[in-house]
Amino acid sequence: MSSTERMWNAEFEMMPRDQLQKLQLQRLKQTVERAYYKVPFFRKAFDQKGVKPEDIKSLDDVSKLPFTIKNDFRDNYPFGLLAEPIENVVRIHASSGTTGKPIVGAYNRNDLDVWAEVMARSITGSGASAGDVLQNAYGYGLFTGGLGFHLGGERMGATVIPISGGLSKRQIMMMEDLGSTTLCCTPSYALALAETMQEGQVSRDRFKLQRGIFGAEPWSEAMRKEIEERWQIDAFNIYGLTELIGPGVSCECSQKVGMHIWEDHFLAEIIDPVTGEPLGYGQEGELVFTSLTKEALPVIRYRTRDRTVLNVEPCACGRTHVRMERIRGRTDDMLIIRGVNIFPSQIESVILTLPDLEPQYFIVVDREKSNLDNLEVRVEATERLWIRGEEARQAIAGRIRREVQQIVGISIDVKIVEPKSIQRSEGKAKRVFDLREL
Ligand code: ADP
Ligand code: ZN
Repeated sequence: MSSTERMWNAEFEMMPRDQLQKLQLQRLKQTVERAYYKVPFFRKAFDQKGVKPEDIKSLDDVSKLPFTIKNDFRDNYPFGLLAEPIENVVRIHASSGTTGKPIVGAYNRNDLDVWAEVMARSITGSGASAGDVLQNAYGYGLFTGGLGFHLGGERMGATVIPISGGLSKRQIMMMEDLGSTTLCCTPSYALALAETMQEGQVSRDRFKLQRGIFGAEPWSEAMRKEIEERWQIDAFNIYGLTELIGPGVSCECSQKVGMHIWEDHFLAEIIDPVTGEPLGYGQEGELVFTSLTKEALPVIRYRTRDRTVLNVEPCACGRTHVRMERIRGRTDDMLIIRGVNIFPSQIESVILTLPDLEPQYFIVVDREKSNLDNLEVRVEATERLWIRGEEARQAIAGRIRREVQQIVGISIDVKIVEPKSIQRSEGKAKRVFDLREL
């Protein structure tokens, strides 16, 4: 362990794995009982699978339990999955959801305490401590990002600025005036803010910013590099979802080699997304979570649709908790173009490593021409490229086409668009517009 590694709760973060697993099993049994006896939905699902709480004798037995999916949250909207009377609930959040009813998260006092704890661990993992000033530019409101960071920041004694997303010029002014050291927002907004700083010709040395904790949307390693260079900071990845608790399910440490999942609170599995069979460490699949300490809304084997790999090798930071790799794609983000699976992040990685392009892009898919799927990427040129004219732009578009073809094996269209013509995101960026009527 590096002697400078800060931890919020070293006793739990460095707990030897055998002890951690004992704790997980004990908590799993409690959660399963709670779900079975207090939530009719879970009881019915258990009964259909012929499994009873007593059948959980080891951690592996979790695979006997039924899965929960996003639609189960929707079907039981708003309070059907609660394991406690609504009077005990002290906080509600909800995720936007693109279609249908939102997903509701509910917390009793103890759940908020758990959330504060895992967020305090996550923020501390990035090297921040009580003396730090946290500029919290995640959206406040029903979205879990704003209040999740708020809770964790206060718990660890940092100075929290609840600025929320948007009003970028004011963000930059306050970042300077209040001496923010830690920026919390989506990676796409971190880039938008860097632009605002550059446009205002505010010199970087006027800021005390040292790090950023970015998440809530997929981003690539190339994007990390871009943000780190533009801001001259360390950028850390954080992950979470409303169904489970919000941000703080996992976060990177100083090593930046995957996000430690706080396993004393969340039991992670990787499954084959097609067969549902459990996969081992090191194998790519869909991430599934069972909550271990949540009371108001216990979650059994929730299928996140997020694809990643788990790594249980010891980490140089000293934490024993398993690490998940950067999310490789969300099954609902995956595009099937002429039968080939493609993730927006694959295209992002190409764009961000080529010169003269801004890290601003979106993808349009349609099916106009002769019933064939057509994927077009629109990427913003830098000023420098734009003034070099059409030929230079065509050349770079050609390079993107060739590299994407090599990586995913399909041909795409590329359009280089004028600087500042793509709308900047203040929260989760929308990168894909699928116009096919499927
Ligand atoms: P919604 O489902 O409406 O986006 P949430 O705010 O609950 O609502 O989003 C959770 C999802 O956001 C995760 O399941 C995952 O797909 C994505 N996500 C969160 N953090 C990250 C991250 N660091 N990297 C990639 N994807 C992330
Ligand atoms: Zn680590």
